Amino acid sequence: MKPLDVGVFLCSTAIEDPFESATKLHELGINNTQIGPLPPSFYTDENADRLKAHLADLGITPTTLFVGFPGESYASMAAVKETVGLVVPDKLEERVAIMQQAIDFTARLGAPRVALHVGFVPIDPDDPIYVSLVEVIQEIADACAEQGLGLSLETGQETAEELLEFIHAVDRPNLGINFDPANLILYGKDRPIEALEMVRDWVVSCHCKDGVWPTVEGELGSEMPLGEGQVDIPAFVAKLKDIGYQGPLTIEREAGDDRIGDILRAKALLERLRG
Ligand code: MG
Repeated sequence: MKPLDVGVFLCSTAIEDPFESATKLHELGINNTQIGPLPPSFYTDENADRLKAHLADLGITPTTLFVGFPGESYASMAAVKETVGLVVPDKLEERVAIMQQAIDFTARLGAPRVALHVGFVPIDPDDPIYVSLVEVIQEIADACAEQGLGLSLETGQETAEELLEFIHAVDRPNLGINFDPANLILYGKDRPIEALEMVRDWVVSCHCKDGVWPTVEGELGSEMPLGEGQVDIPAFVAKLKDIGYQGPLTIEREAGDDRIGDILRAKALLERLRG
């Protein structure tokens, strides 16, 4: 794998079985992937060994394991606030346990880092949920570090400034950012290129995804095929090069009924822009 190689988030094919999805990526000429999200029951040693062998056979490098949790919904802003990540008090214990399973699985799979949406981080650093979230992420980052892994936070549910403040509060050397420019737009939070400049020192991976700003109060904006939304993908790729980003360009496609076609067009666009 070389810097700025085009990769694909495994779930973007819309093929549920991770083995079949990886085979499809190989057919599309992809050599790296972010794995996930997978049901927690998948996190067994046997599955880690099987998936590792399958990816090796295909010549695909797993770059990150992306963790999702049962019961999460991205249907609306309110649904995200109530259900996503580690800010849901009555799900916290269960989800921290899932994170530990995911960390063990990732280490066995041979991927270098684990990523997640932590959910809506409260804006006030004195909020008890903020304080407890900082402690939870410290514990998870330390559990990753014990296995030699990094931990990445997905952008989108807070501004770049709020995310930076949170990262400074957690203060762990293995903590980084998976920069998703579309999420900043979909959640109506920040302008992606300016945000990337602000958090540049923490970006370890990215999602190449596009979207348009929300037009209805309380609803998310709409995801679009890469290059057809309001991210300004040429400026995004130019900015990644400008900050010296060396990771993969990981296509994420979560909507639309021609996922494979969208992935292929996104791949061609990224390869052209990357130069
Ligand atoms: Mg994303």
